[in-house]
Amino acid sequence: MSQKLCPQCPSESLTVTPYRQEAVDVCRRCAGMWFEESEINRVISEVDNGEDNADISNSLSQQRSKTLLRCPDCNIKLKRAKLLDNFDLELDACPSCDGVWIGNDEIEKVEHSPRLRQALSEINQKVSVKSWLFQTLVRFPVEYNIKPHRVPIVTWSLVVLNTLFFWAYFGSYSDTEWVFAHFASRPADLAQGNEWWTLLSATFLHGDILHLLGNMYFLLLIGDNLEDVLGRWRYLGIYLVCGIGAGIISTVANWNSEIMSVGASGAIAALFAMYLVWFRFASLSFMFIIYQKKLSPVWYFAIWLVIDNLLAMLLDGQGVDYWAHLGGFAVGLAFGLGLKEWVYQTNPVVRILAQNSVKVNR
Ligand SMILES: [Zn+2]
Ligand SMILES: [Zn+2]
Repeated sequence: MSQKLCPQCPSESLTVTPYRQEAVDVCRRCAGMWFEESEINRVISEVDNGEDNADISNSLSQQRSKTLLRCPDCNIKLKRAKLLDNFDLELDACPSCDGVWIGNDEIEKVEHSPRLRQALSEINQKVSVKSWLFQTLVRFPVEYNIKPHRVPIVTWSLVVLNTLFFWAYFGSYSDTEWVFAHFASRPADLAQGNEWWTLLSATFLHGDILHLLGNMYFLLLIGDNLEDVLGRWRYLGIYLVCGIGAGIISTVANWNSEIMSVGASGAIAALFAMYLVWFRFASLSFMFIIYQKKLSPVWYFAIWLVIDNLLAMLLDGQGVDYWAHLGGFAVGLAFGLGLKEWVYQTNPVVRILAQNSVKVNR
């Protein structure tokens, strides 16, 4: 049998090399890999990517452009084809034998392509009459992001706990007063070193139903994806630490104030920050009067930070613990940046989507 030649490197022959369960022809100079059609289909099927019967020749786009590279098996010219819509990944495939030439930096994207295809269709959904009606009536944003693979048990439990606690006291004025007296955080007490537990307990209390609904909606919207990439216990730990961190910053900013503070807002503001660092390819819909537009998390939360917090604090400043929001956001940003590499290492699809190869339609 004659030597197979690298399509890219002049007169460099390919070496048979084990890759996953297959024997693949690899170039020792450029590290490119030549897969026969059945080999690449088996490799994609072996990876845990939601696809067990991959057929790459069906996925490659029909519009193919010519290249100068030649098939190592047939010696005819390969053709370039896009593997996914809205994704910058082109492969050189042989029109005759359906073999595929894959660069060393592309193989991971190819292996995850079934999940990427699913993710891209979720990310690139357009705003619709349905989403417009929802946001007009309910006033909350619609999210466009990958669907989590883990059932978000911790997020749901946090929502249930917050709701149950609220349910337990909000009907009675005296109950509310008693609960807040013992479990809301008061900077004047905390400054004396008293009632330190209120830093935690206050994050599970809400002042009124709209406060609760708003926080729980965002917790469900944002929390499921964060729980998915962090893992349940890590997510829960970070949520609680961020809630406490927001409470500490608010206590310092309102030193010796007698005004009580409650709410999950600080912890949830921290989730916002992590979300915008890790899921820059996601979108949240924003309503400009009656015009609904998908915004990147950076823009969405920048507007939230400036209009809902900084401006609101300057203009009004009463009734909302803005320092808990800002403090929570700052703590979340520290976690977001500190854990970014780890999150991307452990979640390859999130990492691939966060690279520049994705075209997000907003
Ligand atoms: Zn080569
Ligand atoms: Zn061929």
